[in-house]
Amino acid sequence: MKAAPEAQKRLLDLAELDAAADRLRHRRRSLPELAEVEERSKRLAQLATQIIAAETEAGDLGRDQAKAESDVDAVRTRVDRDQKRLDSGQVTSPKDLASLQSEIVSLRRRQSDLEEVVLEIMERREAADARVSTLKADRDTVTAALRESEDRRDASFAEIDKEGAEVQGRRSTLVADVPADLLGLYEKLREQSGVGAAMLHGGRCLGCRTSLSIADLNRIRAAAPDEVVRCEECRRILVRTPESGL
Ligand SMILES: [Zn+2]
Repeated sequence: MKAAPEAQKRLLDLAELDAAADRLRHRRRSLPELAEVEERSKRLAQLATQIIAAETEAGDLGRDQAKAESDVDAVRTRVDRDQKRLDSGQVTSPKDLASLQSEIVSLRRRQSDLEEVVLEIMERREAADARVSTLKADRDTVTAALRESEDRRDASFAEIDKEGAEVQGRRSTLVADVPADLLGLYEKLREQSGVGAAMLHGGRCLGCRTSLSIADLNRIRAAAPDEVVRCEECRRILVRTPESGL
């Protein structure tokens, strides 16, 4: 393949721009904010699950408490009824009186036991409510932190994309001055190895860092300036400059 030496030299500028674009893409993929966003999103999902569990527990305890309170009310109603019968003086048989009094005592014991149950449920419910509040406060904190990470990530994206657009703009201008066949070869090599062209500098290919053999250097020396030469080692297009050591 043949191409004007100036066109070949443009490949070096092109390779630099492509390397800059690669660096920008790599930076975009490896932003620390991305890991932060992922970690904080995971934490939020965990908190959402924990909040549902705590709210369910608080709700269940609320129902348990209502049930226990209604049990207390039922026993209290029976105690009141028995007490009224006792106070009315209508029960006169000593045996019935004794039985009534004994029932009142046992009902009061039952009431007191049930009230203990209510208190115990209330305590557990308060603890569950407190857990819900704490988890929701955590969720608010993590949500704010996530937003903050996302904002920083988006700011970095915007900055990288702006630089990327500049690189792309310069690249478009540059490739307009590179012959189609030379550009085609460059792109094919770039696809294969990431870099399409490298400078021959001091007898070395700067693409693969290999020092060329005397025979290869002699071959390149003998080649016409518009001959497109390749590195025998990495197959990249070798661009000759005054520093090539020829
Ligand atoms: Zn090479």
